[in-house]
Amino acid sequence: EQPRPAYKRILLKLSGEALMGDQEYGIDPKVIGRMAREVTELSRLGVEVAIVIGGGNIFRGAGLAEAGMDRVTADHMGMLATVMNGLAIQDALERLGKFCRVMSALKINQVCEDYIRRRAIRHLEKGRIVVFAAGTGNPFFTTDTAASLRAIEINADIMIKATKVDGVYDSDPLKNAGAVRYERLTYEEALARHLGVMDATALVMCRDNNIPLRVINIFNEGDLMRLVLGEPIGTLVER
Ligand code: UDP
Repeated sequence: EQPRPAYKRILLKLSGEALMGDQEYGIDPKVIGRMAREVTELSRLGVEVAIVIGGGNIFRGAGLAEAGMDRVTADHMGMLATVMNGLAIQDALERLGKFCRVMSALKINQVCEDYIRRRAIRHLEKGRIVVFAAGTGNPFFTTDTAASLRAIEINADIMIKATKVDGVYDSDPLKNAGAVRYERLTYEEALARHLGVMDATALVMCRDNNIPLRVINIFNEGDLMRLVLGEPIGTLVER
């Protein structure tokens, strides 16, 4: 008998940095191939999967601005970087035979589709993976905020942030060996304690629209499936 997923529709946020794997920059084909396999398995169970992809492995607006570039131009470059990552994911998924559509918040419709909410939902209903690229389409925002926005717009049951660590800690676990991981916390606590799960804009969007968030480690193969089958993987953030 097929296992029963705990969620019907999920929004998966993948950071651009995670796609680098062990590299300094760009995309590690091994990492993207494995992510595509894991997502395809979820889809086989009947879970509708939407992905928001970051761009930090190529360009980050804040970093370029620090080096002297105009911030808005820098953010445009950051958003375009997420489109490149989106195309790479689409390619990896379609090589596995899984249909996928990249939808961009910025119009570049010779490269991918424009983001149109109803069309995105239709793709999901048909079992296609949808990759939301170009963040929110606005400078000064992050792809975490884009993920919370899209999760709410498409009525996802949960937002899953797959990142470099396996949950939310009271301090940076990559720097502090004594850091303690939370099993569960509220959006209020995450905001008040400046826990750095996501930026405040993204946290407030999730809080006000009552969407739960799970933070999991992108490098733990199988965790995504276990979570979708109902196991309490990583940290749960909720209202
Ligand atoms: N970005 C933006 N508006 C958005 C989302 C992203 O301007 O709504 C730009 C911003 O410059 C950001 C870059 O795109 O630094 C890449 O996104 P992000 O840093 O969130 O990627 P991640 O950290 O997930 O790799």
